[in-house]
Amino acid sequence: MTRYVYDFIEGDRSRADLLGGKGANLAEMTRLGLPVPPGFTIGTDACRAYLATGSPPDGLFAEVDTHLRRVERQVGRRLGDPHDPLLLAVRSGGRYSMPGMMETILDIGLTDATVAGLAARTGDARFAWDAYRRLIQMFGRTVHGVPAEEFDHELAALRATAGPDGPDAGQLRDLVSTYQKIFLRAVGHEFPQSPQEQLRQAVQSVFASWNSARARIYRRQEHIPDDLGTAVNVMAMVFGNLGPDSGTGVAFTRDPATGLPGVYGDYLPDAQGEDVVAGIRNTVALPELARLDPASFQQLTGVLATLERHYRDLCDVEFTIERGTLWMLQTRVGKRTAAAAFVIAAQLVDEGLITLDEALCRVSGAQLGQLMFPAFDLAGAPPPLTVGVGASPGAAVGRVVFDSAAATAADGPVILVRRETNPDDLPGMIAAAGVLTARGGKTSHAAVVARGMGRTCVCGADALVVDPDRGEFTVGDRVVRAGEVISIDGTTGRVYPGAVPVQPSPVARYLAGELDPQADPLVAAVHRLLGHADAVRRLGVRANADTAADARRARALGAAGIGLCRTEHMFLGGRRELVERLILAEGPDAVAGALAALLPLQRADFTELLAAMDGLPVTIRLIDPPLHEFLPPLAELTARVARAEASGRDPGRDGRLLTAVRRMHEANPMLGLRGVRLGLVVPGLFAMQVRAVAEAAAQRVRDGGDPRPEIMVPLVGDVRELAVVRAEAERVLAEVPDAPAVPIGTMIEVPRAALTAGQIATQAHFFSFGTNDLTQLTWAFSRDDVEGSFFGAYLQRGIFEVSPFESLDTVGVGQLVRLAVAQGRATRPELTVGVCGEHGGDPDSVAFFADAGLDYVSCSPYRVPVARLAAGRAAV
Ligand code: ADP
Ligand code: MG
Ligand code: MG
Repeated sequence: MTRYVYDFIEGDRSRADLLGGKGANLAEMTRLGLPVPPGFTIGTDACRAYLATGSPPDGLFAEVDTHLRRVERQVGRRLGDPHDPLLLAVRSGGRYSMPGMMETILDIGLTDATVAGLAARTGDARFAWDAYRRLIQMFGRTVHGVPAEEFDHELAALRATAGPDGPDAGQLRDLVSTYQKIFLRAVGHEFPQSPQEQLRQAVQSVFASWNSARARIYRRQEHIPDDLGTAVNVMAMVFGNLGPDSGTGVAFTRDPATGLPGVYGDYLPDAQGEDVVAGIRNTVALPELARLDPASFQQLTGVLATLERHYRDLCDVEFTIERGTLWMLQTRVGKRTAAAAFVIAAQLVDEGLITLDEALCRVSGAQLGQLMFPAFDLAGAPPPLTVGVGASPGAAVGRVVFDSAAATAADGPVILVRRETNPDDLPGMIAAAGVLTARGGKTSHAAVVARGMGRTCVCGADALVVDPDRGEFTVGDRVVRAGEVISIDGTTGRVYPGAVPVQPSPVARYLAGELDPQADPLVAAVHRLLGHADAVRRLGVRANADTAADARRARALGAAGIGLCRTEHMFLGGRRELVERLILAEGPDAVAGALAALLPLQRADFTELLAAMDGLPVTIRLIDPPLHEFLPPLAELTARVARAEASGRDPGRDGRLLTAVRRMHEANPMLGLRGVRLGLVVPGLFAMQVRAVAEAAAQRVRDGGDPRPEIMVPLVGDVRELAVVRAEAERVLAEVPDAPAVPIGTMIEVPRAALTAGQIATQAHFFSFGTNDLTQLTWAFSRDDVEGSFFGAYLQRGIFEVSPFESLDTVGVGQLVRLAVAQGRATRPELTVGVCGEHGGDPDSVAFFADAGLDYVSCSPYRVPVARLAAGRAAV
């Protein structure tokens, strides 16, 4: 027969799947001999059965009765005994902590018949009637959805008329009968007078609370699966509201905000746990308990020490003191800030409780990422103007500008405000301290680019009406003009008027080499754990960088080279015209002339880049995007030409551009003429780029440097594409005197390339997975479109827990990665394999790449420390 129920003494913390976190830890504390009120746990499988069928599984309550008998024996009281009733707490608790999201019902077992027994036993009739009214309210709300206000209203009225000591026993008895009438009116039957019936209904409503709206929202937010179900803990009640020598509180074994040791927590004398949450009275700081009840305080600190040693981690607890006796109601490994996570992990190593390897697993790349961003000092913040999507963290303050020209021309920090951004806004985004858009979500252009650059970004602030022509934006009736200062918080998405004070991140300053590693406990902890990550990791970490400044920054942050230099970024800004010239060129001479004009510019870019990364590999990707991205948009050109014609002018160059744009128009440009295909059909384009690389490297050699360029061909799907490009590149390389050997490799970003990686490796010195395109093409998702349209629905319906552009889809896309690594290495055992693109800086994806046997990941400079840490974690 299936078994559903386990006494606390039967469980332990390893069984959280079945017993839930709360139940498993109550069991663990019971085993440790700590003072836990007797009880038992109904396993999550019973909840799953209930949720599947709508009724409790057969035999469940018979089993509950058996375990209840044991609790009754241990406590020495019986449920429903009119002279000395046992009261029960019925508490939810799933595998993962979901604080306050599901239901708990206290004081089960009180009825018209037992309330007098409780009064007699405790000698406190007022307390007993108060407990009864609490039960009716909690039960009414939780089991039958009676709004709490209906009861609160009566309680408030009574409190208002009662004397300074609050309502007396008689008044509370009357309140209970009022509550029973409210219950009857709202529910349609009397408040149940059978304690067993109360228990059964309470258990079922706890099951059902797994699917409450707030629980679902919380799970989606925290990426907790929807099908786990909750366990139910049934345990003897203890009372913190039996007078001044009673009380309830929460405590931490160290400070969860900073990680520093000490006694932290809150205590509320003469109260039940729910009063703390309700904020009815103010709590006192835990050290105050030392004065109020020294014996219990001492016992509590002893328990905290035991728990921390046993769990070898920060724990938090809920406790209640009933007339001088301490009871533990809950413990768990406590949530903490990112800063505390690092500090505690390092301290526990010092205290000999955990190893450095373990410490590394106690912190995450995501936490390190958070610590690198400056933060607003919210004490000085006005109410926000509006709230958008926090798309790229950080705290940015600056004057409002509406376009790239104004952003690059401004002195002093600016916030670029756009309805949405496109590649034309790149110079402005580079120049700005932060980016604010009215449209688009977390993977919109603005968000992706801003994250890549470490720029603070708030996007999708849809209350914003942006009017660049008038030089202003409005939020409701509030107008903000160009030049006014605003502050944006890329973590919370809040947009503030004026300058909110910013605190720089000490961790970022340390990582950039500006702060001594021993500057403070947090920096010291980061230094130590990141150092350990570097010592143990097998995965290399490179950076995606297109400029020498980015390359230097990346190197300072620990990058071992550049994994992706996007050469098209060198064609933007003022050089756009040269690209236009290339596109408009008619005949071989004109083409050669246009290319010759681009060559020295590219060469200069590469020379600087190779100098900044001297001695380290620099992977240069040949031009990738469709060429028309460098031309003005069709609508704009059409309008310009029409205006010229209407006023009788010759549209000239615009006319020719318009023809070119029309000719090059593609319905699906991302599936069109781009990447290697461009190199194959635009004669001399790739050759010019290869020559620029070779000449830059040769110059570096002559200057005594150690340049290590690598050439990477994008969008290859067939080995023959690569073979043609490679032959041409090698011809060019051979023509340049003093050029070092330059490995030639390819991106693996088209599914066909992954499927035929064995063939492609015959022509490639290295592979680099372009997981953005690979994801886009494997899923058939247009990355530029899907985010704003249906991704929200997919996330909401649980089809994704996270966007596959944010964290690699290891189940699907990951299989292509594994396949290509295996086939590529089978052909060429010394093949170097890396990954470039957003996933290279995502900690979960980094763990996958380590497991898939890649040699390195490449990510934006700001993510390099995050990737180093994640790679270290993956290795222990
Ligand atoms: P949550 O998971 O939302 O914290 P809990 O199951 O911990 O919910 O219950 C909420 C509160 O109920 C606890 O903080 C505690 O104060 C009170 N409580 C729980 N169990 C008992 C008990 N056995 N005796 C007295 N109070 C209890
Ligand atoms: Mg709790
Ligand atoms: Mg690509």
